Amino acid sequence: MDFQLNEEQQMVARMVRDYVNKEVAPTIKEWDRKQEMDPQVLPRMAELGILGVSLPVRYGGQGMDYISLGLVCEELEVVDTSLRVIMSVHMGLCSYAILQWGSEEQKQKYLTPLAMGEKIGGYCLTEPDAGSDPAALVSTARRDGDDYIINGEKMWISLATKADYMIWIARTDPEAGKRTAGMSAFILETDWPGVTSADIHGKLGVRAGSTGWVNCQDVRVPAANLLGEEGEGFKIAMSCLDNGRYTVAAGATGLIRASLEASVRYAKERHTFGKPIAEHQLIQQKLAWMTRDYEVARLLYLKAGWRKNQGLRNTRETGLAKWYATDASFKAASEAIQIHGAYGYSDEYEVERYLRNARGAVIYEGSSEIQQILQAGYALGDREDRPLRKMLPPYDPEEWTREA
Ligand SMILES: Cc1cc2nc3c(=O)[nH]c(=O)nc-3n(C[C@H](O)[C@H](O)[C@H](O)COP(=O)(O)OP(=O)(O)OC[C@H]3O[C@@H](n4cnc5c(N)ncnc54)[C@H](O)[C@@H]3O)c2cc1C
Repeated sequence: MDFQLNEEQQMVARMVRDYVNKEVAPTIKEWDRKQEMDPQVLPRMAELGILGVSLPVRYGGQGMDYISLGLVCEELEVVDTSLRVIMSVHMGLCSYAILQWGSEEQKQKYLTPLAMGEKIGGYCLTEPDAGSDPAALVSTARRDGDDYIINGEKMWISLATKADYMIWIARTDPEAGKRTAGMSAFILETDWPGVTSADIHGKLGVRAGSTGWVNCQDVRVPAANLLGEEGEGFKIAMSCLDNGRYTVAAGATGLIRASLEASVRYAKERHTFGKPIAEHQLIQQKLAWMTRDYEVARLLYLKAGWRKNQGLRNTRETGLAKWYATDASFKAASEAIQIHGAYGYSDEYEVERYLRNARGAVIYEGSSEIQQILQAGYALGDREDRPLRKMLPPYDPEEWTREA
């Protein structure tokens, strides 16, 4: 077992830390207040190779491993969750869906521009009446000659108004007996006729990001855009979450770190009863909890990343990492506000944004309740991770860095 990050992993983490500190941190409060995404963010992330960091070079990526992706997400979320959300949907939920399940033609056509950041990806599973229970979704895809006709509405979709391609899960066989059967996954281009979208404003957090709805009305999608096989949609949708949750876990770990760093800084400056509050044991206890949670959360996501590198199923490990890190980040952000006292209650300091941002991750990509149900299932032997028809490819440095 090797706990040492390699040169390349350290370098990419440093590069992202530099980028967010210099170019995002100075203005993020302003964009968060405006409830808009800084238009510089996506082009800069593309330019720096972040949007394709852990994808094979022959598909336009940077050829780094899955652990590097985790480190990138951690560094992004230290400054703002909205940047990590981009990676969760663009790479975790969309690009990896195509890498894992796509045909060679689909990879050439869709994965390459995604990896190069020329196009942005999203993921449409949730509907107005289907969130934790995606088998309740009602959007449909009806076969019509060489096409499918998609109808339906998706809700709470990250990058709803920014994504060029969306993974869209729809029901292809409404008569299928089992609730999870009869669903299929499609690659949808958002500029096709009949696709509309808008952002939701007034969100509690991730305000410098885009979250919205996407509607399909009689959208004609070529059968060539079916991802995987017809009827495989539910499995594909769930496998995407293994990758999305990984990025959420790593990002939430970064949020714990941000809360800890802000708390340490403030605790050394602020005096009560004649000494810095850092000298009060009850404040130290909070810092100790944050330190513990940061280390545990980091080990959990690195373990999940290691399993991805080996090409092993990691639903159990990724879910555990996501559940732990998101709960812990919410607690850390809340305690960071407590340490800041009344000042933490205003947006003069960053910690109030951390708390608002941390709240969402406890809900999306499988709420904490759903994660507990899953973990209990594994503990009781009711649930087991078996190899899928198509697995996310393991990280092979030679294979991932070859040009063609
Ligand atoms: C900021 C943000 C971004 C998002 N981005 C995307 C995206 O890009 N793509 C996408 O498809 N979706 C996205 N979502 C949607 C998200 O995945 C869903 O909100 C989530 O799955 C929960 O669904 P719900 O909100 O409908 O809650 P519900 O499913 O209605 O659940 C309500 C409450 O009941 C609890 N609950 C549900 N079932 C059980 C049970 N069996 N036992 C105990 N408790 C239960 C839940 O944990 C929750 O607390 C996003 C959401 C947010 C907030």
